[in-house]
Amino acid sequence: MTLTAKQLVRPEIAGIKAYHVADASGLIKLDAMENPYALPSALRAELGQCLADVAINRYPDPHGGGLKDELKAAFDIPASASVLLGNGSDEIITLIAQALARPGAVMLALEPSFVMYRMNALFSGLQYVGVPLNVDFSLDLPALLAAIATHQPAMVFLSYPNNPTGPQFSREQVLAVLDAAPGLVVVDEAYQAFASDSLMDLAGSRPNLLVMRTLSKLGLAGLRLGYAAGCAEWIDELDKVRPPYNINVLTQAAARFALRHLAVFMQQAQTLRDERQRLLQALRQYSALTAFDSQANFVTIRVPDAAELFAFLKKNGILIKNLHGSHPLLDNCLRLTVGSPDENTAVLAALAGYFA
Ligand code: PMP
Repeated sequence: MTLTAKQLVRPEIAGIKAYHVADASGLIKLDAMENPYALPSALRAELGQCLADVAINRYPDPHGGGLKDELKAAFDIPASASVLLGNGSDEIITLIAQALARPGAVMLALEPSFVMYRMNALFSGLQYVGVPLNVDFSLDLPALLAAIATHQPAMVFLSYPNNPTGPQFSREQVLAVLDAAPGLVVVDEAYQAFASDSLMDLAGSRPNLLVMRTLSKLGLAGLRLGYAAGCAEWIDELDKVRPPYNINVLTQAAARFALRHLAVFMQQAQTLRDERQRLLQALRQYSALTAFDSQANFVTIRVPDAAELFAFLKKNGILIKNLHGSHPLLDNCLRLTVGSPDENTAVLAALAGYFA
């Protein structure tokens, strides 16, 4: 007798829904923290040539083809740190969870935070402990330290700044977690290009610190390249669970090309930081909504009726993310990716219509 998929698949997997990505066709896409800018036309031909020369008949260099050193130089990764490459930082989360999933091992993260931490705990059979943020989305450090003492987690994930809320916790708080944690502390700096601080200076010197980043928010989400920097003892172990050819040849070549033109992407990030301030200022004129501080390329707001405003913006051609229902602290919250100046102007015009 053949068993069905539902009979064979682990019940905790059969019981969940697949990660949902909304259809954005024809809409201004402000739901996924992408950089709104297409590659400048002057660079397109050069990239095309660069990719045409790639040996797609060969497997990629399993060590990234020099990309690790180029990332170290481009992003001030300390010389003492080792680097792990992932197919997006999503994959690095998976690798960490897989490598540390001893029976009974605990993953600890903040709630609400990036959902893939919890999902990967489930996929890898780790116990998951979520520590709620304060209502203003600041870090409840005493609660976090108490949970660390109680659960002795094999790994702690801190999104710095935090998705989907926006604020960055204080550096002192992160250092306190590093001091208290018995296991690995992953500081997820996916939004670092828009933030005011980074722990990268400590990568390679604090034994239990892994600083994780991605090229996605910088304008290269389609390439799928994430990286983590930390001490060699950690990186070497995590590298054992990495599929050897996880960074394909086109990504390796395109990422190297992008790093040669990093100034273009950094300039775009600066524009987005300025636009974030413009959005925040304009949003704060509406007494009906709360706009939370943000150190990322999105702004999270609380409104009287999130479902209604989400539907209104969609009808007006704008797709954002409705966070309502994903966590009690996110009641009636919406997350708006910071778009191009024109896109943000369109959002503000639609909001003016809604609140009129
Ligand atoms: N970490 C955080 C906090 C994120 O918000 C995201 C994506 N939204 C990721 C990691 C994953 O990014 P990527 O896989 O594109 O590198």
